[in-house]
Amino acid sequence: MFTFTIGLEIHVQLKTKSKMFCRCSNDGENQPPNTTICPVCTGHPGVLPVLNGEAVHMGAKMALAINCILPDTSKFDRKNYFYPDLPKAYQISQYDQPIGKNGYLDIGERRIRINRLHLEEDAAKLVHTQDKKSSLVDFNRCSTPLMEIVTEPDFVSPSEAKIFLQELRLIARYLDVSSADMEKGHLRCDANVSINVIEDGRTIQTPISEIKNLNSFRAVEKALEYEGNRLHEDWTAGGESRKRTNKITVGWDETQGVTLLQRGKEEAHDYRYFPEPDLPPITFTDDERATLRAEIPELPAQRRIRFIEEYGITTEDARILIDTKETGEFFERAASEVSEWLCTLEKCDEQLKQKSYKLLASLLIHKIPALLGEQDLLLSETKLTAENLAECVALSISGKVNSTALQTILEETLNHGANPTTVMKEKNLEQIEDTGALETACDTVFGNNPDAVASYKAGKVTAIMFLVGQVMKDMKGKAQPEKVKDILEKKLSL
Ligand code: ZN
Ligand code: MN
Repeated sequence: MFTFTIGLEIHVQLKTKSKMFCRCSNDGENQPPNTTICPVCTGHPGVLPVLNGEAVHMGAKMALAINCILPDTSKFDRKNYFYPDLPKAYQISQYDQPIGKNGYLDIGERRIRINRLHLEEDAAKLVHTQDKKSSLVDFNRCSTPLMEIVTEPDFVSPSEAKIFLQELRLIARYLDVSSADMEKGHLRCDANVSINVIEDGRTIQTPISEIKNLNSFRAVEKALEYEGNRLHEDWTAGGESRKRTNKITVGWDETQGVTLLQRGKEEAHDYRYFPEPDLPPITFTDDERATLRAEIPELPAQRRIRFIEEYGITTEDARILIDTKETGEFFERAASEVSEWLCTLEKCDEQLKQKSYKLLASLLIHKIPALLGEQDLLLSETKLTAENLAECVALSISGKVNSTALQTILEETLNHGANPTTVMKEKNLEQIEDTGALETACDTVFGNNPDAVASYKAGKVTAIMFLVGQVMKDMKGKAQPEKVKDILEKKLSL
């Protein structure tokens, strides 16, 4: 038995128009190599960086959203090291005075403390040739604006770390400061992990492993699980983790599903940080902080709670609906249309409202994705409008169409932008409400199926479903099965 102690360091690429300290396009990843570069971002001697205001603005907003304080002053520093992807031989980063500090993010009941959020520039990209004999440098990424978020070692399980990262991604997307796509490297994560074992009644913490190359949420969880188990086995067997005191760096090998040692001894890195002399400090006044705060939209956690309270939908439905900003907003537009329709009804109680919103949620979560199938389209890429979706809900809730007909109408509306009521009329899908017509149909079915009637009367209750099916067939599917069943039962009990 052991417990985890995990901390994360996360780099998030900001979606500014230009780079951190020059006017080059920040879209270099979609351009031919070495085309979005200039003397500044390629570190020519004598050039001067000019700070990107949009990057500061985005970083500050993110810092506030994760409950950091924005100190009155923060500054940039030079982090010196030599590597082929770093032409200046130093990275402009923030060392002792980051733009944001002492924040937190709540994951369910658990509060994860955030040590800092600082701004820095990315390095270039090394592309190693297939023969492994040479490496190519693409400077397009050089000086792309990044924010680095460092948590305290507050995570007690790999899944908690994963959920935190997913929430962080969602916040960045809600704020529109990053696409935060892990697959594209717009959100990158290193994890520090150690485990706690009990020995002779004492809890002992093992040395730390830092895991690199985590390129997906799944990888974060799997790699942490793996490294925790590996540390435990090693510790129990009296292995190297008992002897060392320093941290090791390991890389996650996705194909083998293992961590591999990269650096046994953490080099005593001396980056010789010193203040960047060419950039002024960043300052914030109370007024500026208030303005920034006012720009922060409703965040995912708040929206989740509001959806549950306002629409009476389940926690799980709320979670799925707000998982993209677009779906949540689409749901709200449709819900407001549904609510307008409900107000026009003579009798509208809380129950009917909840039933309507529940149906709306289930269409968005289950039916529409199923109809879209492999197409993998955003809602905005389909012909569906919030008004039409609301109308589908109204047709169904008011009993005008049954669930089979609803499916047909939804499909037409989704793929061709057709008006739901028009589709219902054109395809003759309206349900038959006329009880007299239904009774006649039931009598006919009795006449044609004496065997089923007899076996029902002899106690085989399930025979009723066969009879319901026959009536539905006669009515060309335009009756409400529950209603047909009621009529049949009444008639058979006579
Ligand atoms: Zn440039
Ligand atoms: Mn960094």
